[in-house]
Amino acid sequence: MRVRETETPLLGPADIRQLAARLGIRPTKTLGQNFVIDANTVRRIVRAANLGPDDVVLEVGPGLGSLTLALLPEVRRVVAIEIDGTLAAALPGTVADRTPERAGKLDVINADALQIDGVPGPQPTALVANLPYNVAVPVVLHLLATLPSLRHGLVMVQAEVADRLVAAPGSKIYGVPSVKMAWYAEARRAGPVGRAVFWPMPNVDSGLVSFTRREPPVAAVSREAVFAAVNAAFAQRRKTLRAALAGWAGSPVAAEQALRAAGVDPTARGEALDVNAFARIAEHRPVTHP
Ligand code: SAM
Repeated sequence: MRVRETETPLLGPADIRQLAARLGIRPTKTLGQNFVIDANTVRRIVRAANLGPDDVVLEVGPGLGSLTLALLPEVRRVVAIEIDGTLAAALPGTVADRTPERAGKLDVINADALQIDGVPGPQPTALVANLPYNVAVPVVLHLLATLPSLRHGLVMVQAEVADRLVAAPGSKIYGVPSVKMAWYAEARRAGPVGRAVFWPMPNVDSGLVSFTRREPPVAAVSREAVFAAVNAAFAQRRKTLRAALAGWAGSPVAAEQALRAAGVDPTARGEALDVNAFARIAEHRPVTHP
């Protein structure tokens, strides 16, 4: 491939090791620190993210900057949220070294993405991230709930998590993450990613998930109320909904009444229902539950 003169130099394996050594970074499993060392993977993520020059990208966990450097030329701004103080402090310098003309487009926030309740400045329109494995689902759901400006996104997660996020009703892996994701967005798989593109190499495969926000189901109750029904249904996913929702409704009889009122077969299981059905069920929760 011909390298454009204006192209930002991306980070390869030697750059990543050097940067990590200079900063004294020893990647931790707890923070899901597996850094991408392959420029082609980074380019693929950016391509799959379908970004435009007006997009303001929220990147969670920029790490040493592999993805950040590829995002900056494509979009209006990048807001990067990094929990690791050393990595957060080093990122502006890495960007200034490699692409000084784009350094002004980057904001770095040293914070836990699960705790943020907003970001300053132009509001992010797209989430693009190589997410830490152990908090990938809560991070995506929290950000979709907290930042209504997010219209679309592309995240790299563990392969099984990718499957779960996009699963449709009726499949074995359909569960809480699938229903909650469907509340906010239409999500689809955007390709597999092998282990060798990371340092250190993880012991799981990864996958890309792209999503586009959609209108949530029309419901007379809050999102929290719908999610409470979802949590209850899947807490005992082998049971019929009549049994699984007994505690939630107050009794098995009350659960059956709510299910019938919602037009749902009480002997069905949660894994058969789409997000709209859960919204209808939540609307019929008895008012006097314990
Ligand atoms: N984007 C970089 C890349 O592709 O090479 C790093 C990705 S690495 C899988 C995940 C990054 O997320 C790490 O830099 C880690 O420190 C950061 N991280 C972990 N938990 C986080 C959280 N709760 N909030 C923000 N960043 C987090």
